[in-house]
Amino acid sequence: AKDEGRSCYAFYTPQHNEIIQERLRIENLLRHAIKNDALEVHYQPIINLRSNKITGMEALLRLRDGDQLIPPDRFISIAEETGLIISIGEWCLRESCKQLAKWHQHLDPNLYISINVSTRQFQSKAFMEVIETTLRDNQLDADKLLIEITESLLLHDNQHNLEVFQQLNRQGCRIAIDDFGTGYSALSYLMKFPIDVLKIDRSFIGQSTVDGKENSLIKAIIQMSQGMNLKVIAEGVETSAQSELLQSFSNDICAQGYLFSRPVNDTEFAKIFMQLTAK
Ligand code: C2E
Ligand code: CA
Ligand code: CA
Ligand code: CA
Repeated sequence: AKDEGRSCYAFYTPQHNEIIQERLRIENLLRHAIKNDALEVHYQPIINLRSNKITGMEALLRLRDGDQLIPPDRFISIAEETGLIISIGEWCLRESCKQLAKWHQHLDPNLYISINVSTRQFQSKAFMEVIETTLRDNQLDADKLLIEITESLLLHDNQHNLEVFQQLNRQGCRIAIDDFGTGYSALSYLMKFPIDVLKIDRSFIGQSTVDGKENSLIKAIIQMSQGMNLKVIAEGVETSAQSELLQSFSNDICAQGYLFSRPVNDTEFAKIFMQLTAK
């Protein structure tokens, strides 16, 4: 065993060490993030393409590191592995619902918030209770909350998951499948779970051209959604050509993407909302 230890040790190159150090540093930031006020929620507008108005916004976490903001791709997986995602996800839910309640007063009482929920958070014991308390504390109707989950959560025949979905649905919350089309799509799960919204992954939108294969795929998802009474949000819309293409497929479709706005802080969001409403 001693030999094994030594040979393992021999594989630790300086690069490995740096990666491990960086990981530990982020883990440490995360561990104290709530207490240190180091988390921020940014909001990306979701636009109804027919009215060209903002109907809601997606909450996207950022982690503050001095004067830098660390993007979620660098900390969400660490938060998931360490279990910290549960408290961080709950914080994000509370923070963005509090913000939404303010915007209901100042901007528009119909706005909804869309929140990313990790599998681990979804399966945590207190999940439903946290949702109910947060809605109550902020006097929000449940239909103003859209819960984004990924396809992987639907893969397993899990009685507990199904019950949580049904509770969310009874409560009146809406449920979206995030990054739709990238998972191990067994479409039958759309029948089994009370899903309300499909978010078409931005990889399909980004590759859409005048008549490429991606177009047929986007079109098929939209047609299927109409038949199943599901709403569609297209992610990653960056050009007006992409927006027009989507509109040619459906007159009831929402979109988010850099064409309209990047994710922004609360102050910026209110400005963008006012600008779009004044038009
Ligand atoms: P996502 O849920 O798919 O979020 C959309 C991502 O696409 C965001 O990246 C957003 O900034 C980016 N995006 C939006 N429009 C465009 C566009 O037009 N072009 C391009 N190239 N990108 C666009 P972000 O904010 O870096 O978030 C990355 C991921 O981190 C999210 O992907 C989500 O999976 C995760 N995440 C963020 N916040 C949370 C959270 O509170 N909880 C959990 N569990 N995951 C989160
Ligand atoms: Ca999302
Ligand atoms: Ca429902
Ligand atoms: Ca997505």
